[in-house]
Amino acid sequence: MNKLNVLVVDDSNVQRNHVMNMCLEQGVGNVIGAINGVDAIDKLLEDKFDLVFIDLEMPIMDGVELSRKIAKNKLANSVIILSSKDPSLISSIGTMAESDGLTVLGTFKKPMQISDLENSLNRLTTHKNTNESHKIYNRLEADDLIKGIKEKQITLFYQPKLTCKGLLLKGVEALARWDHPTLGFVSPVEFITAAEEFGVISELTHYLFDIALKQKVQWRDHGINFHLAFNLSPLSLADDNLANNISTQVERHKIEPKEIVLEVTENAICGEISTAIETLAKLRLKGFKLAIDDYGTGFANAQQLSRVPATELKLDRILVDNVATRPQQLAILRSTVNLAKDLGLTTVAEGVENFDDFKLLLKLNVDLVQGYYFAKPMDAKKLVHWLQVDLAKIRHDLHEKQSQESDN
Ligand code: C2E
Ligand code: CA
Ligand code: CA
Repeated sequence: MNKLNVLVVDDSNVQRNHVMNMCLEQGVGNVIGAINGVDAIDKLLEDKFDLVFIDLEMPIMDGVELSRKIAKNKLANSVIILSSKDPSLISSIGTMAESDGLTVLGTFKKPMQISDLENSLNRLTTHKNTNESHKIYNRLEADDLIKGIKEKQITLFYQPKLTCKGLLLKGVEALARWDHPTLGFVSPVEFITAAEEFGVISELTHYLFDIALKQKVQWRDHGINFHLAFNLSPLSLADDNLANNISTQVERHKIEPKEIVLEVTENAICGEISTAIETLAKLRLKGFKLAIDDYGTGFANAQQLSRVPATELKLDRILVDNVATRPQQLAILRSTVNLAKDLGLTTVAEGVENFDDFKLLLKLNVDLVQGYYFAKPMDAKKLVHWLQVDLAKIRHDLHEKQSQESDN
């Protein structure tokens, strides 16, 4: 792990030392304590911290006021909120801190458990990496993209989508990857956005779709059958020829459209969307399945959702991640799952990163799961190995965990 600079704010010596010691045991780097909000602000002004633990109940300046001050003055990016109060109160303060612009890595009832700390630190590392890979926008030019396509530098990784019950491999999502000769790894968020801006998204989409279809044929030839999920840019939906082009590509590879799930983000179906709906309806008529992606990050309402001829709803990481420790998030997730079921949609939880969240998803009767907890996106070769070797192990470990819990 990278060395982190951590501040633990708690007026109770026992609680503060407990968290500080746990952090040190995890090898986080530098850990210091503050005895109240005012003391914390002083220290935050003096030094730069990667993470601040905030106790809610403190004399002089309480945790609510402290987190607002941190957000307002941009004194830190990431916080963890702790309290001995009711979990739903802690979680709603977490939500408030997030709407102030802080990254809340977790909200926990005291005393903090080691597993909570581990999960939060993992989240911090992921956030740091994503932020760093997003920082470097606008360094790409149209020619880079064309070259990336021509020279086949851009490829696809695949991430498994598993049934919640029984962990059967139901499908894989294709995710674009670019190992650029001079820039190194470039995030798909960066180069897809660039391709949209430079007007080469259609070339990129057809190039990638072809790779995915060829791969699907290879898997089929090896007797491995599962659906292939492929992301479409919202811009592509405005293209009148998209449905025909996609269809022709699929026919050429002798693949049935029903084996392909096309994913479009929730925001593609908001606002003035008649062309988008027309394209989606054409694709659906041709037999493709359609998923509404990143649901929970945008502004689609139930009515907009019901107008789209979708077959699947992908619940965004924002709704899924750490839901087991966030009662209000759970309430939203539960009602979303029920809405999707009423609309006859398959539900997919994205970004499942831990066992507790998975258990909850199982309880909520979510159909499919996808996330680092089961598998990260990987290249096609690795996927076969994962399927033949790792999957059985994952099932076995989960089974053990579940039976251990039912014994307790
Ligand atoms: P997305 O479609 O929502 O894809 C899921 C993203 O979440 C992927 O990021 C995946 O690696 C990541 N992910 C999966 N499980 C977990 C987890 O448990 N924890 C965390 N923290 N992340 C997880 P990735 O590959 O960086 O892709 C980012 C976005 O770029 C995608 O989001 C999609 O919107 C876009 N994208 C990727 N490939 C393509 C493509 O071929 N075409 C288009 N139009 N967009 C693409
Ligand atoms: Ca997707
Ligand atoms: Ca998504």
